[in-house]
Order: sequence, then C-alpha cells, then structure tokens
Amino acid sequence: MRPGLAVILVGDDPASHVYVRMKGRACEEAGMHSVTMRLDAATSQEELLAQIDVLNADPLIHGILVQMPVPKQIDADAVVRRIRPEKDVDGFHPINVGKVFIGERDGFSPATPAGVLQLLLRSSVDPAGKHCVILGRSNIVGKPMASLLVQNAPGGNATVTVCHSRTPDLAAHAKRADILIVAIGRPKMVTADMVKPGAVVIDVGVNRVDDPNAKKGYSLVGDVDFAGVSKVASKISPVPGGVGPMTIAMLLSNTLRAAERMHA
Ligand code: NDP
Repeated sequence: MRPGLAVILVGDDPASHVYVRMKGRACEEAGMHSVTMRLDAATSQEELLAQIDVLNADPLIHGILVQMPVPKQIDADAVVRRIRPEKDVDGFHPINVGKVFIGERDGFSPATPAGVLQLLLRSSVDPAGKHCVILGRSNIVGKPMASLLVQNAPGGNATVTVCHSRTPDLAAHAKRADILIVAIGRPKMVTADMVKPGAVVIDVGVNRVDDPNAKKGYSLVGDVDFAGVSKVASKISPVPGGVGPMTIAMLLSNTLRAAERMHA
C-alpha cells in the first residue's frame, strides 16, 4: 500500500505554487503517491467541491488538501468542510479541530504547530511546566499551537499565553516566555530586547522582503530578528529552514497515519 496525497491549487498565487511544488516533491522523495491538481483562477465553488468529492471517493488518495488562499469567489470554510475528516491531513476540518482541542488522539493536528512541537521535543525542549507565549492567534498556527501545548499529554502541560494585535504591551508578555513562538507575519518584529535571556525562540513567520542583492529581487525573513535574538536565546529556529520543512514533514506524517488507518 502506498500512501497518497492530493493537493489542489486554485489560481496563480506565486507563493502557493512554490508550496505546492515542495509538497509534491517531498511526497515523491518519501515514496508516496502524489497528485497535484492545478485549477484555473476562475474555478467556481461548485467545480472545486466536485473535485473534492472525486478525491474523497478515490481509494488511492488518503490525504487531501486545498492550498490556501483560494480566490474570492470560493468560500474557504465550505471547502474545508467538504473534505472527509479522515482525509483532512491539514487538520482544518472542525471535526479535527475539535478532536485536537479535547485531546482525542485520532484527530489530525495542523502541520505547522505539530511541526513546531516536534522541533521542540527533538531539540530536547519539553514544554511541560514551561511558560509558552504564542504571538498570533490564527486558526492555522496560533490557536492550534495553544491547543497542543495546553494538553495533559506528552508535548503539552505548558502554561500558555496567546497574544494578538489587540494585546497591550506585547513585548512584556514576550519577555516572560520560556518558549516564545512567533507567528504574526511581520518581518523581524521580535527584537532581542523582547526576549528573556536563555529562552527558546521558534520563528514561524515567512515574509518576502525586497532585496536588490537577491537574484529574485526579494528574500525570505522570519518574524524574528535572528541576528539580534540569537545572541539572547538559548535555542532559535532559522528562516528559511526551521518550521517550514517541519510543516511539510508533518503533512507527510499525517498522510501516512491516514493511510494506515484506512487500511487497518
Ligand atoms: P495571520 O495573518 O492569519 O495571523 C497573524 C496573527 O498575528 C493574528 O492573530 C494577528 O492578530 C497577529 N498580529 C499581526 N500583527 C500583529 C502585531 N503587530 N502585534 C501583535 N499581533 C499581531 O497569519 P498566519 O498565522 O497564517 O501566519 C503567520 C506567519 O507565519 C506568516 O508570516 C506566515 O507566512 C507564516 N506561516 C508559516 C508557515 C510555515 O510552514 N513555516 C505556515 C503558516 C504560516 P489579530 O488576530 O488581532 O489580527
């Protein structure tokens, strides 16, 4: 049996094309069956839902994801809800969100926070008993990250603070973190003065900034000022690298689990 992942890309967002290519390549490298569907930017919601139905019924496909963002004529929530929860390897279907929140092991965690957790655990950083501060409360990073860290389970048992754009004095919260996880989408916003000496810093942010010296005219930077913060932190994840590759690894891991479960 070969685990199979289908990725649907609607439209021509350049960053999405890069992510989808990377996911397809990672599947092939791991020996998984990989299907990439590229749909026109004018695809209607009905057409997209019909494609999802086909993949839901395909026995060779164990995981399905629709690369976000989708064009504005399409309701992203309806798309996520159409994927069978057993094939929702992105972990965005409300059934999986709920399972992760209540600590049910058979739900799929979203790949990015699951990757952050593996990054911590495999670097010998156990969140148990630590104060974890998360900057950002999105449904794909901040909220599921908090949900994983607060569980009474391995990789959890942290005390969690979640900050967002309405949090007064973000820096004061950040500075109290033993583990600081940053997912706000603002280039180099977290500076050394916002970090407690010896803290572990995980940078989820991926931002394109103009760079006349780069071949493509831009370079990728995180939400953390790596040069400054790396002098204060005990451990820090880089951008590029760090969380990005872990996200893809966890997507493959979820696909493998989906396949094992379907063939059990
Ligand atoms: P969103 O834009 O959905 O969420 C950003 C969050 O940050 C929001 O909760 C927002 O608050 C908060 N925020 C924004 N500006 C500030 C500020 N100045 N002060 C405090 N809080 C602020 O982003 P995502 O969660 O989707 O992504 C975050 C970053 O992570 C991006 O750079 C993205 O590219 C990257 N990313 C990387 C992945 C990877 O695989 N490496 C995967 C997913 C994302 P509010 O809710 O109040 O608006």
